[in-house]
Amino acid sequence: MIVTRFAPSPTGRLHVGNLRTALHNWLLARKGDDEGQGKFLLRIDDTDAERSREEYVTAIREDLAWLGLSPDAEFRQSQRLDLYENAFAKLKDAGRVYPAYETVQELELKRKIALGRGLPPIYDRGALSMSEEERAAKEAEGIAPHWRFKLDHDELIAWEDGVRGPQKFDPAQLSDPVIRRADGSWLYMLPSVIDDMDMRVTDVLRGEDHVSNTAVQVQMFTALHAAGVGPDHCAVIDSFPRFGHTALLVGKEGKLSKRLGSLSCEALREQGIEPEAILSLLARLGTSQPVEPIADRAALIEGFDLESFGRAPAKFDEAELERLNAAIVHQMDYAQVRDRLPEGIDEAGWHAIRPNLSHVGEAAELWRLVTGPIEQPAFSDEDRAFLAEAAQVLTWGDNPWGALTSTLKERTGRKGKPLFLPLRQALTGMDHGPDMGELLPLIGEDEARARLERAAR
Ligand code: GLU
Repeated sequence: MIVTRFAPSPTGRLHVGNLRTALHNWLLARKGDDEGQGKFLLRIDDTDAERSREEYVTAIREDLAWLGLSPDAEFRQSQRLDLYENAFAKLKDAGRVYPAYETVQELELKRKIALGRGLPPIYDRGALSMSEEERAAKEAEGIAPHWRFKLDHDELIAWEDGVRGPQKFDPAQLSDPVIRRADGSWLYMLPSVIDDMDMRVTDVLRGEDHVSNTAVQVQMFTALHAAGVGPDHCAVIDSFPRFGHTALLVGKEGKLSKRLGSLSCEALREQGIEPEAILSLLARLGTSQPVEPIADRAALIEGFDLESFGRAPAKFDEAELERLNAAIVHQMDYAQVRDRLPEGIDEAGWHAIRPNLSHVGEAAELWRLVTGPIEQPAFSDEDRAFLAEAAQVLTWGDNPWGALTSTLKERTGRKGKPLFLPLRQALTGMDHGPDMGELLPLIGEDEARARLERAAR
């Protein structure tokens, strides 16, 4: 059984980078439905009380629902603090966490000294060699410790990454990570591992900015197991979940980070981008599979394959998203859009205007070609005579446009642009637009004749 999770911190709106991670995890879980029920979990990482906001929790739920990526269950870290406390106590007994008293300034100084000597800025484990008396002295001064996880330098870190292949880290080259602040609050690292064990997460897919976190988290899984924390399910998947780290999204001109505000799910929705366009793009970006407008989720699920992911940064291009959006809109059925269309557009109307829309929201504007009023350009004398003739010969049958143009062609000898353009301009006020064969019946006989006569005046 596949269990994945999406674990956003509710400190802002979801943007395309987050959505991509959510989608990957959703796709993997849904693909896992083949072998029994897959599960896609939403875990709200809200241990940072200061930066977490309830409004963002709500927004995360709404954004996922809008995209159709609803989770099978939701958890909040702020409601699971007892679990972390218990695990922490066990790690403490096992000697895998230790208190540290350095101030931020002291740590910064240590870093600078190391760098100045040309050494990597790895934490020197100063706190680990403190005596009981030294600790007591710190506490007597009123200094509460923060806590670090003690990496096992003898246990080489390795995992087979679903995207990056075999990964190896020497723990001696890493700093023992701070896992808990002096005020008792948790940093992301350890609670995430405790939750992944507790929720029986089988696969962790996230961005490659987490690779170094994974290195220390791999040891946390082992340490927690050894300390007797959590269920033993990880044993079946080699003591920790499968990890996959996808290459980051970049903009056309480099980093996306500065523009993420305008690339929030909310902003894209307000721009009239369809969920299917976003999903089509984000599912395939950075893979060897072509980006195509795929409205059918089953096809996206079917095609999802970590093997097809590349290591190079994935380029996010808004123009590509717009193109996909138009293609998706052109595929949409009337039933899918009915509720979002202005009064009066029926199925035939939708089919007539659909190919000319980039966004569903433009339907009202285009529909004005049918309902009027329209603004006609000034016509030459010759065109006015031609349009007067058009008004006269207009008849109404199955295919009024076909009939009108063939009659006029015969009577006036006009063909191509001189035949079609003045008619289109007189009937719609535009040079381009929906197929006239579909549009004219919607305009109706009386209105069409009135427009032709008005243009001929
Ligand atoms: N809250 C973390 C983040 O948003 C979760 C990372 C993870 O997937 O473990 O970066």
